[in-house]
Amino acid sequence: MKDKTVCVCPPEVSHEGFASLATPTYRASTIAFPNAQAFAKRMERGPSGYVYGLHGTPTTRTLEASISALEGAKYTMLQPSGQASISLVFLALLKPGDTVLVPDCAYPPVSTLCNGYLAERGIHHRVYDPLIGADIAAELDDSVKLVWVESPGSATMEVQDLRAIVRAARERGIPVGIDNTWASPLHFKPLNYGADIVVEALTKYFGGHSDLLMGSVSVNDDGLYDRLKSTLSMLGIGVSPDDCSLVLRGMETMAVRLKHGSDVALDFATRMANRMDAKMVLHPALPSHPQHDMWKRDFAGASALFSIVVPADMASELDGHIDNAKTFSIGASWGGTHSLMVPMAIGAMRQFTGNAPGGLVLRLSIGMEDPDDLWADLEPIIDMIARVHPA
Ligand SMILES: *Cc1c(COP(=O)(O)O)cnc(C)c1O
Repeated sequence: MKDKTVCVCPPEVSHEGFASLATPTYRASTIAFPNAQAFAKRMERGPSGYVYGLHGTPTTRTLEASISALEGAKYTMLQPSGQASISLVFLALLKPGDTVLVPDCAYPPVSTLCNGYLAERGIHHRVYDPLIGADIAAELDDSVKLVWVESPGSATMEVQDLRAIVRAARERGIPVGIDNTWASPLHFKPLNYGADIVVEALTKYFGGHSDLLMGSVSVNDDGLYDRLKSTLSMLGIGVSPDDCSLVLRGMETMAVRLKHGSDVALDFATRMANRMDAKMVLHPALPSHPQHDMWKRDFAGASALFSIVVPADMASELDGHIDNAKTFSIGASWGGTHSLMVPMAIGAMRQFTGNAPGGLVLRLSIGMEDPDDLWADLEPIIDMIARVHPA
């Protein structure tokens, strides 16, 4: 071989005896075929075979298989963000004239998708009270083609009765999809409770280090898989194997990160509920949380994300305390090693008052820093609220 060819085609080296504990990062746009016949028959390899880089490499497939194992799913597909995963589900399942039911507590960009792109194309949505439970049956008409669930709601922590919602939807053959980002499959496995589709924002606990975006959709049903997978291929949506390798690395420590964060978060929430009106501490593992019993029935553990209700007239004082925080960062994409606080004026976005009638919450994501440093940032905020709303 001449030099220029060697530059493009490196000599083969042995892999024998090389057993790394890390998943290799396999990058590919093109997949090379051994002969012309194999290329001609490439589609016979099916969706799980390798035909084109967009549809997966062994690295992306390893991540998909790991998530399927955790969710108890037959199939998992990856998208470039959690929001892309939700959009994929909506775009694959809904046609003009159809309706999707969305809980009031859903991740706000879901409403943007429904009010904008979908509405412009004649796809309707109706917002329902996340605490609706079995009464969802009254919302199910022939136009409803998807019931969306997010539990707990990631700002105000309403725990939804997934079993009751699934029971009602099943009776009419309507699929139920759920955003499970708060709990992760370590603490809740929605497919075991009858959900048809589960979405995770891998950006959060899976990645775990605030340095990547990714989402997953997992299902058991072959027909649903075909619809989702073909929509994904048609839209040309895939993920980078390098990002998958970061998620695979993050996953190795997810259980200990989640355990640490949830222990500290529950300790903080308990201390807060002892100082201020317990109703204002929105953490489903607290016995004072309005849906605590249902949470305990369904969930194996809590996450490290919870909120406190802040009286609206304390908004500017709250901003001052947030600005003074030394250890917490201010930001939205939670589930990383850095603790975050973010004030959310949810009042204007909601039709139902749910767990936070006042409309202003401070959402906290607990990371890996020393709890004493974190508590020092929180104490002035708790003092401020406890002065007017003591325990
Ligand atoms: C962050 C988040 C998403 C979106 O994930 P991205 O990867 O940031 O797009 C969806 N749902 C919930 C509950 C989230 O917290």
